[in-house]
Amino acid sequence: MTRLAPLDLVDADGLLSDEERAIRDTVRKFCTDRIRPHLAEWFEQGDLPARDLAREMGDLGLLGMHLKGYGAAGTNAVSYGLACHELEAADSGVRSLVSVQGSLAMYAIYAYGSEEQKNEWLPRMVTGEAIGCFGLTEADFGSNPGGMRTNAKKDGSDWVLNGTKMWITNGSIADVAVVWARTDEGIRGFVVPTTAKGFRANTVHGKLSLRASITSELVLEDVRLPADAVLPLSKGLSSPLGCLTEARFGIIFGSIGAGRDCLETAIAYAADREVFDKPLSAYQLTQAKLAEMAVELGKGMLLAIQIGRLKDAGTLKAEQISVGKLNNVRAALQIAREARTILGANGITLEYPVMRHANNLESVLTYEGTSEVHLLVIGQALTGQAAFR
Ligand SMILES: Cc1cc2nc3c(=O)[nH]c(=O)nc-3n(C[C@H](O)[C@H](O)[C@H](O)COP(=O)(O)OP(=O)(O)OC[C@H]3O[C@@H](n4cnc5c(N)ncnc54)[C@H](O)[C@@H]3O)c2cc1C
Repeated sequence: MTRLAPLDLVDADGLLSDEERAIRDTVRKFCTDRIRPHLAEWFEQGDLPARDLAREMGDLGLLGMHLKGYGAAGTNAVSYGLACHELEAADSGVRSLVSVQGSLAMYAIYAYGSEEQKNEWLPRMVTGEAIGCFGLTEADFGSNPGGMRTNAKKDGSDWVLNGTKMWITNGSIADVAVVWARTDEGIRGFVVPTTAKGFRANTVHGKLSLRASITSELVLEDVRLPADAVLPLSKGLSSPLGCLTEARFGIIFGSIGAGRDCLETAIAYAADREVFDKPLSAYQLTQAKLAEMAVELGKGMLLAIQIGRLKDAGTLKAEQISVGKLNNVRAALQIAREARTILGANGITLEYPVMRHANNLESVLTYEGTSEVHLLVIGQALTGQAAFR
């Protein structure tokens, strides 16, 4: 078995079971063989062969891997986190593909769907034959999704959906969209086949972050769906927020995977690079930077594993997810920026992963609850006062 990181100073590896290490090593090998060789090209092109990758990741059991039944692998939460860690050590866009599929689209159907909806979609989503997306955000309602304008109205027994969703990962390649809409009974989730009349997805171009990921606008114009398209157990904003809690969990592990890749790159680069006739790694200022990164990485990994253990015990609270997401994404971003300075001019190229990670992490800092929103969630837990408005 490999070590969790070349410099796992806190021996986080020792906190894992053999099975968890084996899953992590399998995903790491998949990333080394299948993903890493192509990342610079995908990032530069602003594209990802998501369909092929979904099939391959489905074969490995990575899609919805922590769910039970319907062909899903049924692993514990820590194993799922470790898979996210390895995927994001490759690229946040690849991890996003898996997170949105498993933790957002599949989880919404799994947690709030009817048995018919689950049987129709989940087995095909586990294998990667069907791809899902999750449409909550709108152009004017990101941090405050409760203000959404997308609506679903009853017409006889049918539902008719109208509205526009923005920044939707996997939107243009999805077979099924879980769309959240305002109804007379409050916000509810709908299972929308992307072949439905009146549905279209437009790819967002010009991104400088998460370029190896597909981001889209979803447009719904009089999309008519049968009565059973609604997720029967979805009731109010807490339902989509429940899905986001799942996805944020993966980010806690994932983001510091990107940080780990930056630290590994910086250590190797500093050893090779000579400045003023000595390796860069021999200078105290460089060592201080590397040491700071390793300390933050170690703390982040311990935090992730602790949050994973709480999730597996069924006692995890929303504010604990916020602590993890806030801390680990901020730490990873700081590590990526510092690693970039060690690589000098080379650091700004796609030949090395650090600037790609740094740019990706800007999106990760914003999606699934911005850092400000997570501060407010923690503030509410501490004071009992909601300061969102
Ligand atoms: C690459 C990418 C992929 C995404 N994928 C998806 C997806 O698959 N599905 C989906 O539904 N959404 C997705 N999103 C959307 C994402 O969740 C939103 O961008 C995010 O919720 C923030 O919303 P916003 O961009 O509208 O920012 P805003 O809400 O406008 O926030 C702007 C700033 O204001 C701050 N702010 C907001 N409220 C407060 C407050 N009360 N007090 C103080 N400061 C505040 C924010 O923290 C932020 O700094 C994605 C976004 C990106 C970038």
